[in-house]
Amino acid sequence: MTEKKIRKFYIETYGCQMNFSDSEIVASILSDEGFEACLDLHEADIVLLNTCSIREHAEDRVRKRLHYFRSLKKKNPGLTIGLLGCMAERTKIALIEEEQLLDIIAGPDSYRHLPGLLESVESGQRGIDTILSADETYADIHPVRLDSNGVSAFISIMRGCENFCSYCVVPYTRGQERSRDPESVIREAKDLFLQGFREVTLLGQNVNSYEWKEGNTTVNFPLLLERIAGLDPRLRVRFATSHPKDLSLELIEIIAKYPNICKAIHLPVQSGSNALLDKMNRKYTREEYLEKIRAIRNCIPGCAISTDIITGFCDETEEDHQQTLELMKEAAFDFAFTFKYSERPQTIAAEQYDDNVPAEIKERRLREIIELQQELSSASNHRDLGETFEVLIEGESKRSDKQYFGRNSQNKVLVFPKTSQKPGEYLKINVKRVTSATLIGEAV
Ligand code: SF4
Repeated sequence: MTEKKIRKFYIETYGCQMNFSDSEIVASILSDEGFEACLDLHEADIVLLNTCSIREHAEDRVRKRLHYFRSLKKKNPGLTIGLLGCMAERTKIALIEEEQLLDIIAGPDSYRHLPGLLESVESGQRGIDTILSADETYADIHPVRLDSNGVSAFISIMRGCENFCSYCVVPYTRGQERSRDPESVIREAKDLFLQGFREVTLLGQNVNSYEWKEGNTTVNFPLLLERIAGLDPRLRVRFATSHPKDLSLELIEIIAKYPNICKAIHLPVQSGSNALLDKMNRKYTREEYLEKIRAIRNCIPGCAISTDIITGFCDETEEDHQQTLELMKEAAFDFAFTFKYSERPQTIAAEQYDDNVPAEIKERRLREIIELQQELSSASNHRDLGETFEVLIEGESKRSDKQYFGRNSQNKVLVFPKTSQKPGEYLKINVKRVTSATLIGEAV
């Protein structure tokens, strides 16, 4: 009797941390069904692209990549190619028809069905499943840590989003908001700690609205965070992403109380203009946003604050843009992800507003925002000169095998000469020099 060949799969992930976490869930589901994960695309029998739709650019990258896969499939017609995630959910069958290359299309709530979809492909059909679920959280799946450094890991605590920011496609591609059973989250964090991991990042589209109800008990995000921080002081806890409207004083106080909850908050503002915030359906004003920044700075001295900014949204005037620049200075962001607005099909903005800011004006405003953020980030790094931070060693620096790199609680990368400590251990590092992106130091 000949043994059935084990089929190898390779996952390529695009977009946000949520997608990286989802790829680990997919790897777990397929591994449990006898498939084998591989890290070399050219060894794979099955190639899966876990995609993002949040910006046009993200989808363009995937389409370009599909051209390359077309050439691979010509050489190896038995190769199975699948599209997963938000782009699969958004485009559904249309992309199969356009590309004539894809064997599988699976949305973010369909990953448990992947083994069945792969079977359909083996029997000569295409495997398509883009049904969104009201309760799928993959709580019972133990993610396979793909390409892991063995030190830090993601834990997905909730799925979906119901905020319907007018520019955003996520509520349509990831469906209703649902939180995962807190006991399963705590178990996963504990297991990771026992395996040697020393940092977990709790993930959700809006972790601040995490809520689990059972009988008379309700667990909200501050309570969940507190329970994970209480597992072991050597386990660092991070989280992403926070919606400003839901960032509570209770959460700020919990972050301040536990040294192992990292002092870094990502709080996407998107715009500094009330007219634009209203049009974006963000449900807060610039004054309310700045009030939260003040509360963080008062309660958690030294906390890093980062943000997302979209420039050139529909009807944005020069004055709106100036208000964004002013807000950036007042908030003194340590870091920002900055984008030009690109219209996403199916969103409120696409249906109701004109994408009417000319491309060259978007470009110029983006340049001004980036330049200002570079100044703010540089000032933030210079404030760290001479300071000593506790750093979790993550691995060898890319530039030199004589150096390690790691992060401080504020999520800044530090590079320093190797010591007898190993990745996964903590070290106190004094900052001697700074570059635009890195702090360079020595152990004390
Ligand atoms: S909070 Fe707004 S921007 Fe974030 S995922 Fe939900 S709809 Fe999109």
